[in-house]
Amino acid sequence: LLPAFDYQPQPYKGPLADEVFAKRKKFLGPSLFHYYQKPLNIVEGKMQYLFDESGRRYLDAFAGIVTVSCGHCHPEVLNAIMEQGKLLQHATTIYLHHAIADFAEALASKMPGNLKVVYFVNSGSEANELAMLMARLYTGNLGMISLRNSYHGGSSSTIGLTALNTWKYPIPEGEIHHVINPDPYRGVFGSDATRYAKEVQDHIDYGTSGNVAGFIAETIQGVGGAVELAPGYLKLVYDIIHKAGGVCIADEVQTGFGRTGSHYWGFETQGVIPDIVTMAKGIGNGLPLGAVVTTTEIASVMAQKIQFNTFGGNPVCSAGGLAVLQVLDKEKRQSHCDVVGSHLLERLKSLMHRHEIIGDVRGRGLMVGIELVTDRKEKIPAKAETAVLFEKLRELGVLVGKGGLHGNVFRIKPPMCFTKDDADFVVDALDYAISTL
Ligand code: PMP
Repeated sequence: LLPAFDYQPQPYKGPLADEVFAKRKKFLGPSLFHYYQKPLNIVEGKMQYLFDESGRRYLDAFAGIVTVSCGHCHPEVLNAIMEQGKLLQHATTIYLHHAIADFAEALASKMPGNLKVVYFVNSGSEANELAMLMARLYTGNLGMISLRNSYHGGSSSTIGLTALNTWKYPIPEGEIHHVINPDPYRGVFGSDATRYAKEVQDHIDYGTSGNVAGFIAETIQGVGGAVELAPGYLKLVYDIIHKAGGVCIADEVQTGFGRTGSHYWGFETQGVIPDIVTMAKGIGNGLPLGAVVTTTEIASVMAQKIQFNTFGGNPVCSAGGLAVLQVLDKEKRQSHCDVVGSHLLERLKSLMHRHEIIGDVRGRGLMVGIELVTDRKEKIPAKAETAVLFEKLRELGVLVGKGGLHGNVFRIKPPMCFTKDDADFVVDALDYAISTL
């Protein structure tokens, strides 16, 4: 049984899953993304739980793709959105609105060093698109470097930064180079950050004209399957990039806002300060919102032309985003992620003694990956088994994410109000599901 939770969902009278699915098939384009074999009609959410049309409760261990940071329909965030919505929903950024300025100030206060200038956008892809533009304008160079196994967006420019072929289309990508990702589990150099960093230098020397605009990386590759970069890697690479005349971009779309537990931002775990930071997802607890934060110096190049975004930092999103920051601080979610995440990791690691299929357990805070293999030595992805277990977990009431190039990694990245009991439930459900495979 799921942990006790004192909340009754509303009676649901809307269309049922089959009807919704039929409409979706008809009206939402041919390239449908089937996450579950049997359609799941989610109609209500409360903190770390979701409810389907029958009122059945599910533990949400994926947070709407790592987006619901405070919890589904968190009362304080909801209240801020509703109060602002009653006064003014939209005015565009050509006018002043205090919510936008207040939110920018609060966000800047969370950043280290000279990262004090904030641009609001509507998604992670847009944030990375803007960061890439800034890097190119500021340096006067075109070459962008990103890591293999990365995901940075699906817009026509960011799709070039993304280096997971599941997501790529055969379109021209311009001057974008992918270097080997420092993956301690699968990488050819294990955890040796120096060897991987040398690959970056070699790539600049041998594979480019030498003109580097920027380097972008997630500190834990999210879509790529919760792959944490080898310790010390970013420090070495940031030095190399700066010497080559480029700027360093941290993609904090998944790792930001305390999710990694030990720090507010993922890049802090590598002891670096980026030149540009991009964020989205958790920033708005589900509101369509993203941001780019940079230095005054880099921001100055944006004054060459008008940098304008109709919705970016709209008053409702800004009020909601500000409430998210306040809630995360008030509820001490960063240390909470540390405690619950460590417990989850410890329990999952002990499960490895019982189940050979678990090849690797990794991550930090509430950003955890479980990689399944059919052979631990050869690390052969257990693709079919992962698909079966995924459906079984749903039957048991746990919704997890899938990731990695072969789709053989479970991603546990729940709302940050997840408790130790919830973590235990995930582990016990996985234990049971594997035992009955
Ligand atoms: N960067 C990272 C690290 C992401 O995980 C994602 C989305 N999965 C994006 C960028 C793109 O964000 P969005 O889907 O909001 O465009």
